Amino acid sequence: MSADHGPDNCLFCKIVRGQISSNKVFEDDDVLAFHDIDPVAPLHVLLIPKLHLATLADSDSTHEPLLGKMLVLAPRLARELGSADGFRTIINTGRIGGQEVYHLHLHIIGGPVRLPAMLTRG
Ligand code: 5GP
Ligand code: ZN
Repeated sequence: MSADHGPDNCLFCKIVRGQISSNKVFEDDDVLAFHDIDPVAPLHVLLIPKLHLATLADSDSTHEPLLGKMLVLAPRLARELGSADGFRTIINTGRIGGQEVYHLHLHIIGGPVRLPAMLTRG
């Protein structure tokens, strides 16, 4: 992982540390979920580990419980936030994957989607 992608200047670590405000929808010891600042659909929440992991490609087997927890939590949050009928989960990874913020995050997107910039960047 390059120094640029470490925790010190990481936007989402700053949100975890409370240095940048966010519209939180869920928090426990391991994870935080908050509304995306530029939603592409009526429901657009980002679910992140509190642990700084730059990308999914930086994960290893020690992260399996954390990643599993996030996947199991996603439908519960979607349901509680009004998307009980279904939703999309997206994890963008790396430059080619259109990742903008280098702290692993799971997009939880419900309702009609406007074409997100993340899919048009290349
Ligand atoms: P990525 O393209 O890395 O998968 O997605 C990054 C997401 O973070 C984008 O959907 C973007 O709108 C969101 N985002 C960027 N900066 C902020 C911020 O300061 N606060 C919040 N809540 N979301 C942000
Ligand atoms: Zn971070």
